[in-house]
Amino acid sequence: MSERIVVVAAALLDAGRLLAARRSAPPDLSGRWELPGGKVEPGECPEAALVRELREELGVSAEAVARVPGEWPLREPYVLRVWTARLHPASAAPEPLQDHDDLRWLTRDELWDVDWLDQDVPAVREVAGLLEAA
Ligand code: C5P
Repeated sequence: MSERIVVVAAALLDAGRLLAARRSAPPDLSGRWELPGGKVEPGECPEAALVRELREELGVSAEAVARVPGEWPLREPYVLRVWTARLHPASAAPEPLQDHDDLRWLTRDELWDVDWLDQDVPAVREVAGLLEAA
């Protein structure tokens, strides 16, 4: 059996909105929107990986809040797990520093205005109930 590698992604919530990030690479994913995140490194716990990825990709200081139930297969050997997350009060505002070229804070009414990566859709559906109607 092949070992699975966990990719963590953040449903970053602020004021009842969800942060969506538009990928700038690789070519087959660019232009699609995702929950920001990335691969857990060997020996790293998933919540720490999430905090690290959010710092590297968006320049924010944030923390994982709760696991979103479920696990979604990506291209072998990756699986996607999602946590809700929040910004620390002193955090900078997110900026697309790495991997992304646009960011949007979405209300519940705007949630499906962006073209989410197929594999992120079930997780986005799970967090929809946490958002405010515009
Ligand atoms: O961001 P990074 O390249 O480290 O992500 C690893 C892989 O996980 C990517 O190839 C991407 O396809 C996938 N991914 C995803 N959904 C996310 C974050 C990453 O499918 N929200």
